[in-house]
Amino acid sequence: MGVLGSGQLGRMFAIAARRMGYRVHTLSPDDGTPTGQVADREIKAAYDDLDAVRAFARGVSVVTFEFENVSAAAAEAAAEHAPVRPAGAVLHTTQNRLREKGFLRRAGFPVAPFAAVRSAGELAAAVAEIGTPAVLKTAGWGYDGKGQAKIATPEEAVAAWLSLGIPGGDEAILEAFVDFEREVSVVGARGLDGAFAHFGVIANDHVSHVLDVSVAPAPVPSTVVRKAVEIARGILEALEVVGVLCVEMFLTREGELLVNELAPRPHNSGHLTFDACVTSQFEQQLRAICGLPLGSTALLCPASMANLLGDLWRDGEPDWAAACAFPEVKLHLYGKAAPRPGRKMGHLTALAADPDEARRLVLGARKALAR
Ligand code: AMP
Repeated sequence: MGVLGSGQLGRMFAIAARRMGYRVHTLSPDDGTPTGQVADREIKAAYDDLDAVRAFARGVSVVTFEFENVSAAAAEAAAEHAPVRPAGAVLHTTQNRLREKGFLRRAGFPVAPFAAVRSAGELAAAVAEIGTPAVLKTAGWGYDGKGQAKIATPEEAVAAWLSLGIPGGDEAILEAFVDFEREVSVVGARGLDGAFAHFGVIANDHVSHVLDVSVAPAPVPSTVVRKAVEIARGILEALEVVGVLCVEMFLTREGELLVNELAPRPHNSGHLTFDACVTSQFEQQLRAICGLPLGSTALLCPASMANLLGDLWRDGEPDWAAACAFPEVKLHLYGKAAPRPGRKMGHLTALAADPDEARRLVLGARKALAR
């Protein structure tokens, strides 16, 4: 298995793959990485070193990725020597917010109103069209709320444009601000034969635009579950995904679902599937890209996941034993050396009889970590 990218998603994929006897190679610009620590081979090269990418692809049977901002040229170079799953075209659509939202709107999936913005002048026109409050986001290379500014009133538009520091010629997207009741996600998988599987609806809480806590199953009506899964299935089919793709959605106060973002890979909100499901999102990615039958996604019991950010290290090493004192809580650490504030260092997953109890347990365990 070849993995482009070397973070925690690749690490958990590699763990799932090695458990089933596969060997894993990873390529990224770093070494000693979360994926490299558990892979058979770690190659340090820039993603745009196309010769290195070709050599990497020659050494594996299939290439997948855990870092979605790999260039189209790198995906094409890899595809000369091994199947790339999901295909580079899926990456191309999802790595730019305007392309992604344009695809969704054209294909009839529900999205909040949005407009393209290429200059301060265009922003004024977009604000007039979309109204306020609105959110201005860089079109490319943004994730976890990076490159975003809220515009509460039209007067704030120019400051928001300047705050993003968008280089000349680059694009941004202005989206209507959604007053959502909650955020949910559906992690879907699609096999080589077109089979579809999903992990149900997961509820997600964000802090400072970064995922903080996930709960499964999400406390939403069955009609919302059906609709959310139908949207996810439609998107995976329209994009002809082979692999895993996560659809992040807003559930509005009126009970409407709006697609916010697509991630063409396992997703942070699906980390709880590692401990709580018959087949994890990582094993499902492996099965899909290898052309194996998809596994059961059944949730063995309600679960909740809490991220561990670098901020937890502010007063020294967290008290791991205190979290392990919660017998229903599983500790995952990604092997990252430097605990910078905001950096995803690990997560906890709690399993319980009901979702609220799982959430209470995981938050209790995380609190116990802080000395
Ligand atoms: P994103 O990077 O687009 O996933 O945004 C990160 C987080 O910012 C989301 O999970 C939401 O909590 C918030 N957010 C992004 N776009 C909007 C929007 N149009 N309306 C309300 N909140 C938003």
